[in-house]
Amino acid sequence: MTTATQHSPERDSPGSGSTSSVDTCPLCGGVDFELLYPSTLFKKREAASQYNCTSHGLGIHPDIFQCRACSMVFNEAAPGAIDVAGEYEQVEDPEYLEQRESRRLTFNRELDEIEVVHSVGDLLDVGCYTGFFLECARERGWNVSGVEPSRWAAEYGRDKLGIDIFNGPIERYDLDRDFDVVTMWDVLEHVPNPVEVLRLLRSRVRPDGLLVFATHNLDTAVARVLGKHFPLFMEMHTVHFNNRTMQMLLEQTGFRLDKKHNQMRAVRLGYLISRLRRFGAAPEKIASTLIRMLSLDDRIVWTGLVGVETYFVRPV
Ligand SMILES: [Zn+2]
Repeated sequence: MTTATQHSPERDSPGSGSTSSVDTCPLCGGVDFELLYPSTLFKKREAASQYNCTSHGLGIHPDIFQCRACSMVFNEAAPGAIDVAGEYEQVEDPEYLEQRESRRLTFNRELDEIEVVHSVGDLLDVGCYTGFFLECARERGWNVSGVEPSRWAAEYGRDKLGIDIFNGPIERYDLDRDFDVVTMWDVLEHVPNPVEVLRLLRSRVRPDGLLVFATHNLDTAVARVLGKHFPLFMEMHTVHFNNRTMQMLLEQTGFRLDKKHNQMRAVRLGYLISRLRRFGAAPEKIASTLIRMLSLDDRIVWTGLVGVETYFVRPV
C-alpha cells in the first residue's frame, strides 16, 4: 500500500456522458480517500479501442483510490476526462466475433446455473453487446431482449441474429417492462454509478425474479495475491468490489445474495496467447508461433480463478 493521502478525484457524471466533478465515494458517498495504487498510464489514452470487449489494456489504469469509510476501490478519471457513454457508443470490435464459439460455451454454462434456480421466462441482458448470450438463451426457450450502448454491437445483434436490442444506455430503456431474469455480464465494473444502475435494475426484476451478474472481486485469491498487478485493474474498469462493498451495494439497492460462483470461461487458446501482449511482443510471438506449429490455435480451454465471480441476487 502506498502513502496515505486525502484526495477527491474528479469523476465523470454517472451515465450521462457529460463530464462533471464528483468528489464522493461511488458507494457510500464518503469524501476521504486513500491512494491505493498509483497510475500505470504511460502514454496518452487510446480512444474507443480501450472499450472493446477484447481490449488489451489489462493492468493499465489511472490512480486507484480506496474509500476510508467503506473500503470501496475505484479509479480516478483519466486526465482529459473520459466520456464513458460516448466511448461505448463508438466501440467497434470485429475481433470479438471470432470468439462466438467460446463465448457461447461460457454463456451456456451460466444458463445451466440460471435454469437450476429459475424456470425459462422473460429475460433482459443489460450490456448485451452483439447478443451472443441472448442467442443462447433464445435457443433454450427464453423470451429475450437486450440493451446495448455500442451502435455497432447492437446493430450486429439485431441484423445478424434477429434479436430485440435497444441501442442506448439502460437509463433510456422502456420503463414499463419487467423481467423474470435480468443479466449483466462484465458490465458493473465499467459503470461509475453502480448504486444507481442496480436500483434501476431492481425496478425491472419481478418480485420472484433474479438478477445475475459477473464482475471481479478483490477478495478472490488471485486478486489478493497479485495486488497492484491484478490485470483487471484497467482504465475502463472504474469500480472494483470486494465482499464487503458488494454486500453494501446489494443492501443499498434492495437485493440479497442468493448464491455466487467463480466464473469459468471458455477461451480459444490463440486468443489467450494474444493477451500476453501486455508482457511485450516477444513472449506473445514465441507462444503464438509455438501453438500454431502444434495446430492448437483453435483449441478451447476453460479458465477459472481469474477473479471474476457470478452473483445470483434476488429482490428483497
Ligand atoms: Zn465509501
